[in-house]
Amino acid sequence: MDRKWWEKPVRMIRRDYLNDFACFFNADMDKLAWEARYLWKANCEWIMATPGCSPGTGHLTLFNSDRFEKFPGTGSRDILREYLPYARRHKIHIIAYINMHWYSYDFASQHPSWEQLLEDGTPYGRKHPLYGNGTTFCVNSPWREWAFDMIQEVMKTGVDGCFLDGPVIYPGACYCKYCREKFKMFSGENMLPIFSDWKDPLWKKFAEFRSQSWADFMKDATNAAKNVNSEAVMFLNGGAFNSSNILLGYDAERIEKFQSFTGAEDFFHCTQAYHSPYTSLNLSRFLSAGKNPSVVFTHHALSTWHYVPLPEAEVSTALAQATAGGSNTWFAIFYLAIKNSKSDAIVGVKKTGGLIAKNEKYLEGSVSAAETGVLISNRTLYYYISKHSGLCRETGSGKEQGLIFDTGSDEYLKDIDKRREISCGILDNENRGCLDICNFAHIPVQVLWDGYILKENLHRIKTLILPNAACLSDLQVKNIMDFVYEGGILFSDFESGMYDEYGNDTDRNDWLRFIGIDRISGVFKPSRVEDYIVLTKKVGSFDSGFFVPRPVNALAIKPVKEASILANYLNPINMPYTQPKGISEFPAVITTKRGKGKIVYLASPMFESFNLFHIDTHKNLFYYLIRDTVPGGSQIETNAPGSLALEIRRTDKTLLIHLVNITSDMKRPMGTIVPLYNISISIRTDLKNARSLSSGKTIKLKKIKGRTTFVIPEVNEYEIVLLY
Ligand SMILES: [Zn+2]
Repeated sequence: MDRKWWEKPVRMIRRDYLNDFACFFNADMDKLAWEARYLWKANCEWIMATPGCSPGTGHLTLFNSDRFEKFPGTGSRDILREYLPYARRHKIHIIAYINMHWYSYDFASQHPSWEQLLEDGTPYGRKHPLYGNGTTFCVNSPWREWAFDMIQEVMKTGVDGCFLDGPVIYPGACYCKYCREKFKMFSGENMLPIFSDWKDPLWKKFAEFRSQSWADFMKDATNAAKNVNSEAVMFLNGGAFNSSNILLGYDAERIEKFQSFTGAEDFFHCTQAYHSPYTSLNLSRFLSAGKNPSVVFTHHALSTWHYVPLPEAEVSTALAQATAGGSNTWFAIFYLAIKNSKSDAIVGVKKTGGLIAKNEKYLEGSVSAAETGVLISNRTLYYYISKHSGLCRETGSGKEQGLIFDTGSDEYLKDIDKRREISCGILDNENRGCLDICNFAHIPVQVLWDGYILKENLHRIKTLILPNAACLSDLQVKNIMDFVYEGGILFSDFESGMYDEYGNDTDRNDWLRFIGIDRISGVFKPSRVEDYIVLTKKVGSFDSGFFVPRPVNALAIKPVKEASILANYLNPINMPYTQPKGISEFPAVITTKRGKGKIVYLASPMFESFNLFHIDTHKNLFYYLIRDTVPGGSQIETNAPGSLALEIRRTDKTLLIHLVNITSDMKRPMGTIVPLYNISISIRTDLKNARSLSSGKTIKLKKIKGRTTFVIPEVNEYEIVLLY
């Protein structure tokens, strides 16, 4: 197959000079290009066309154009045109970076109608100065024509494409006259709603409008670039899977046909909160769920200390995880940080970047071979508010300290904003917890987006997981039901499918009965103290009577007659040091057969609790439920600890097993990776040969009970096993 350059493995790099470009202009450009290619293992480099630095310099160019003002001190120098020949010599594609969200107040004052406005008419950037100084423009204002003109001027330099850093539609915006007019055409409504007013149905229309405005901008931006070069590569920073997506208009699926890559940031931040070791892998899977090539943006800086490079282990695993999840790699380096500690900074890139670069021919065109799919529903992230106000109770920390036990207050919170906040908390933890529970349980997964819940996509998987994918369209529900009738396994939890795609409570009686629910009686009080699920049947190596810590949240349901009950909730205790009060009438886990398939339904959002508490009992229960339900058992079996992620991808004739080892010194940032030895892997495949891509050595395969098994003697940061 004849692929374009951006459809082959791409390794991107950006060198940051802040506002001092002298070291670029005065450098030996041939050496810079050589370093990008051979030291940093890149085959694509971003060069600043308009810089992003204080006080907002998005309107100033580092290249020559008689239509725009030049960045001070650059004289007649042209960063793009001068560097291009050197980049070409070393086979590096050039993407121009255009800052499209940060402009100085001076420049904005020359164009008073371009700024994004808050409801009270204040420009967003005057109330919330960007990075402490500067403002931002509206995608629906005449600024858009200025922006398209800029893109065309950049493309005329001969670069291969543009990365647009922004525009961002900021929370609370935009209420400018252009948005008001356009919204009227979009919705037929005369007034814009109050921002984030969940009581007003118009808010959801405004949310759709904001998201559509962003996509319309990108569509016209890409057309503008393609008018200059029909092969122009265009993309922007598109956001991941967070409940804050609605505030920023992020929708990866809506925008995908207007860009060449789907990309988003996974910058490492030092934080007091729990930090999953698999964030790059999870983001990579999410971004690669669409049709576009994808890219995970990694900053090669230690959190907010930009002049210190990211530790070797962190940069190494970030690149490995992006690749294992099906995405391309990108990292930005602070030029000064690298100059100060060149050897330290380069090690991580050398290790995994080198492995990726050396084996690009095997990675080209690979797609996920995971038999388990996870729906990460952006519609649910946008609109989910649980109808059960009983969930809105503060649970307290559950901490016991100094003979004081924090079990929270008994206050039920009925305020809709609070309910949205609590629902977002459940959902964000569900999505992240679901992907992580699969990582730790060695269940290879691929992510599906809402619009990809179609027959042809569901055919690629055997099991579909709905991690509280609450807001589904009728078509999605029908396609999922058909998937099960035809033999698929559905793993659904909590309120999945109980609302329409706009978050409205809807009659889903057929769906409820389908997943095994006769009716919902209400919810249990949220609890993190002394409440349990008890197994009523043996599940994996857990015997009947085994206690599982109850997830924080739980629905009280009555099952349909034909459902089989595997576990029940105990009657609530919710008090420490108290005798159990017996088994409740409400099941926690049920299975139901439908057609040729089967459904496992959990009345609790268990992934939420896994993300909060990381308890292995939850992971193991989930693992047994999947393993014992899927015909033929687990796709992969291994003796590895959960700190080795296994990802399976395939091409026409090969299987690639990516092994990402995050066994480390038990903290983030990770300081060092601890090697694993004699890792055995068993997989269902007919392929006869295997080779380690890190060592080049042949791996001996054995057939045991219809499965192919092999042992990897040593796994360091990253290994790829090629089966062929
Ligand atoms: Zn506007």
